[in-house]
Amino acid sequence: MKQLMDVAIIGGGPAGLSAALVLGRARKSVIVIDEERPRNRVTKESHGFLTRDGIKPSEFRQIARQQISVYPTVLFENDTAIEVTGTDGEFIITTAKGLTFGAKKLLFAVGMKDLPLDMEGLTDVYGKSAFVCPYCDGWEMRDRKLVIITNGDRALHFAKTIAGWTSQYAICTDGPDEMTDEQREELKRHDIPVFASKIQRIEAENGNVQQVVLEDGSIIACEGIFFVPKLAIGSNLPQALGCEMTEAGAVIVDDFGKTNVPGVYSAGDAASQKYQVVAAASMGSMAAVSINSELLGEAWSARG
Ligand SMILES: Cc1cc2nc3c(=O)[nH]c(=O)nc-3n(C[C@H](O)[C@H](O)[C@H](O)COP(=O)(O)OP(=O)(O)OC[C@H]3O[C@@H](n4cnc5c(N)ncnc54)[C@H](O)[C@@H]3O)c2cc1C
Repeated sequence: MKQLMDVAIIGGGPAGLSAALVLGRARKSVIVIDEERPRNRVTKESHGFLTRDGIKPSEFRQIARQQISVYPTVLFENDTAIEVTGTDGEFIITTAKGLTFGAKKLLFAVGMKDLPLDMEGLTDVYGKSAFVCPYCDGWEMRDRKLVIITNGDRALHFAKTIAGWTSQYAICTDGPDEMTDEQREELKRHDIPVFASKIQRIEAENGNVQQVVLEDGSIIACEGIFFVPKLAIGSNLPQALGCEMTEAGAVIVDDFGKTNVPGVYSAGDAASQKYQVVAAASMGSMAAVSINSELLGEAWSARG
């Protein structure tokens, strides 16, 4: 271990980078450890972040790193944090490359990761013509013929939401329909077709969905897909350190990113279900303010 840093940020996506910027400007020594596997790496363009609409996710991070490099107390390590020990005031982080870093405070900005997509053909179109969030990619899919892969209570909600972008869509439940009779009736009243067979495969050309083939032999021609992915937190380290988690697998934090473990913070997708770059950046910024205020308070007290 070289030196005790003020803050170790694990994860260098919008949440971690935003925190690094605020802490660098607050003259705190910071190490950002990032393995560079952000959730949106499958997509060509990221939308909805003011001044950066349509930017490539890797370019977004590159600009952020470039701007942060002005602040000399922020260091970056491209590596995976594999173990965290210690307590408030002295955490020790060990990385896959065998490095160790010490830090007074810890910020987990580890994001969420998609679990393997268990549907033939989906990986080929994910981020190109199959998406997860209408607010991120609905505009690009506007007025197109879409298949929405969803089931149960979510189906009606998704159907209502996607109606803001296109009127041509069908629901595919990918297996037995788990909706209530009322929900089924409501979709029928709105002329939204529901296909309840399991999906056999998705056929595409150059990443553009052409059709969804069902096990019962039905074929649904379409130009795009929205689906609900299965997610897990980007790293198990917060749990291993004793952070309380929600049922959905996110770290429980207060409005300033503070967890139940003293000196440990979390921000971004790892600590919310907002799943937007701008929201992640905002949470990172707020956590950084709170961490800095805690460090300043401790330094003030130590002086008498
Ligand atoms: C297909 C797709 C398209 C999207 N499009 C948009 C869009 O258009 N607009 C929008 O606002 N949002 C979009 N999103 C959502 C957006 O990607 C996330 O909300 C945002 O990336 C969250 O930022 P984050 O910093 O919390 O996590 P991430 O960006 O996921 O970053 C987390 C980082 O932590 C790293 N990490 C994890 N564990 C460790 C570890 N142990 N050690 C070191 N590093 C670690 C990861 O490798 C990663 O680099 C999209 C998501 C997907 C899946």
